Amino acid sequence: MAPRDYDIIVVGAGMVGSSMALRLAASGLRIALVAPSLERKLDTHQYEEFDPRVVALTAASRELFERLGIWPELARQRVCPYRKMHVWDGEGSGKIDFSAAELGCEALGHIVENRLIVAELMTALKSSGVTMITGEVAGLIYTEAGVGGVTLADGDSFHSGLTIAADGAQSALRDFAGIGVREWSYGQSAIVTTVRTAQHHQHTAWQRFMATGPLAFLPLCESPDDVDSRYSSIVWSADQSFAASLMALNDTDFAERLAQSFEHCLGAVEQVAKRHCIPLVQRHARTYFQPGLALVGDAAHSIHPLAGQGVNLGLLDVEALAQEILRAQNRGVAMADVSILRRYERERMGHNLTMMAAMESFKRLFGARDLRLLWLRNCALRSADSLPLLKNTLAREAMGLSLS
Ligand SMILES: Cc1cc2nc3c(=O)[nH]c(=O)nc-3n(C[C@H](O)[C@H](O)[C@H](O)COP(=O)(O)OP(=O)(O)OC[C@H]3O[C@@H](n4cnc5c(N)ncnc54)[C@H](O)[C@@H]3O)c2cc1C
Repeated sequence: MAPRDYDIIVVGAGMVGSSMALRLAASGLRIALVAPSLERKLDTHQYEEFDPRVVALTAASRELFERLGIWPELARQRVCPYRKMHVWDGEGSGKIDFSAAELGCEALGHIVENRLIVAELMTALKSSGVTMITGEVAGLIYTEAGVGGVTLADGDSFHSGLTIAADGAQSALRDFAGIGVREWSYGQSAIVTTVRTAQHHQHTAWQRFMATGPLAFLPLCESPDDVDSRYSSIVWSADQSFAASLMALNDTDFAERLAQSFEHCLGAVEQVAKRHCIPLVQRHARTYFQPGLALVGDAAHSIHPLAGQGVNLGLLDVEALAQEILRAQNRGVAMADVSILRRYERERMGHNLTMMAAMESFKRLFGARDLRLLWLRNCALRSADSLPLLKNTLAREAMGLSLS
C-alpha cells in the first residue's frame, strides 16, 4: 500500500505531469504521481502505427528531456528533426522560410508522437523513486494552510505539502479549487491524422494559412535512419462546419481535398490513417495557484495548435516551478508557501499570455477576408522573410531559445 504523506503530489500523467514528477524525483522530496491509467501507459511501449497526436518540440523542451534522461531513448525511436519550415499565405503570395542551417543549428525542432514521450517518461519514472498511484482525483483536502492533499474516487486520501495539478485542459482540480478560467472557442476544430505522400517531406514543417484555418504537414520518420520518409502528421484547423464536412468525406475524397488544399507540395496524398476531430478551445486560468496548489500545462492554459506551442509552454512551466521548489527546499521554506507559487506565476503567466495573444492575432489576421488585411499580411510576410534579423528573432522565439 502506498504511503499516505508526501511533500508533493502531482496529479495527471500526461507529458507535463510526468515530466514534473520526474524533474523532482532526485530532489530527496517525497513525490507521488496520481493518474487513472498508469498501468496502460506503462504497458504500451512499442507501437506499430504512428500516434495521430504529435508535438513539435522546441530546443528548450528537448533540453528538458535531455536533463530528464529520456532524450537518447526517444531519439532512437521515431523522432523526426525538421530542418526547414515553410509558411505561406494560401490567399496571396506572402511566404516565410526558416532554415536550421541559416540559424547555425542542426534542427529547428523535432516532431515526436505524444504517446512515445509519455511511455519514455513512464519507463524512467518506474525506477525514479516517485510513488505511482493509480486513481482519479475526486476532491481536494483543505487544511488551515490551504490545499493539503487529494481524495480519490475510490475513497482513498493522500496528504501533501503541495499538490500540482497537471490534469489537462478540463482540469477537475482547477474546478475543485474554484479557480475560474477565461475561455472561448476558436470556432474551429483540428483534424489530425497520419498521411503518406507521393514525395518525401524533406524534413520540412509546412504550414499553409487559409481563411478557413491553417493546415500543417509535420514530418515523421519510421526510424533515425529513415532519410526519405513520406509520412507526415497533419493538423488541419478548420471552421467547425467545414471541419465536419471534411470528416464526412471518404478517405479517397479527403486525400484529394487535402492534397489540393496543400497545393500538392508533396504530390498526391496516397494514404490516410483514421481521422480525429478535436474542437479548439482557448482557456486561461485566472490564477496559477492557491496556497498548497499549483497549476501547470494545459490545466493552466490551452492554446491554438497553429504554432505548436502548447506542450512547450507546459514544459517551461515545469522547469520554472521545479526551480522555485528546489530553491525553497534549499532554504528550508515550506512547500505550500505562497511566495514560491507567486514567483512561479509571475515568471510564467506573462509569457503564456503573450503567446496566446500572438496566436489569437495570427488566427484573426489569417481568417480575415478583408482585402486591405489580405494585402497587409502578405506585405508583412514578405518583409519578415527578407529581414534576416527579424526572421532570426522570430525563429529563436518559436524554438524557445529566447528563454533558455
Ligand atoms: C491538434 C493539436 C495539436 C497540437 N500540437 C502541438 C504541438 O505541435 N506542439 C505543442 O507544444 N503542443 C501541441 N498541442 C498541445 C499539446 O497536445 C498539449 O498542450 C498537451 O498534450 C498538454 O499536456 P498536459 O500533460 O498538460 O495534459 P494532458 O495530456 O491532457 O494530460 C492530463 C493527464 O491528467 C489525467 N487526469 C485528468 N483528470 C484527472 C483526475 N481527475 N485525476 C487524476 N488524473 C487526471 C489524464 O488521465 C492525463 O494523464 C496540440 C494540441 C492539439 C489539440
